[in-house]
Amino acid sequence: MNKQTATYIAYWLNANETGTDQMSWGDIANLTHETQLGIYGYCTCEQQEETGYRPYDDCPTEGPYHQ
Ligand SMILES: [Zn+2]
Repeated sequence: MNKQTATYIAYWLNANETGTDQMSWGDIANLTHETQLGIYGYCTCEQQEETGYRPYDDCPTEGPYHQ
């Protein structure tokens, strides 16, 4: 994980906890598998074997997905 990604995750973790900011559609569109996992601890690609859904370009094509 690069520094920019780590900073982004830290910002939104804090914002979610304190309610100081909310994601705009633009922010949501800029999420990646890595930042989604970092902020929310979950990515919907974990269900891709059932749903075939890979929401982000950097989602792994097979498990484990929590990385
Ligand atoms: Zn993913």
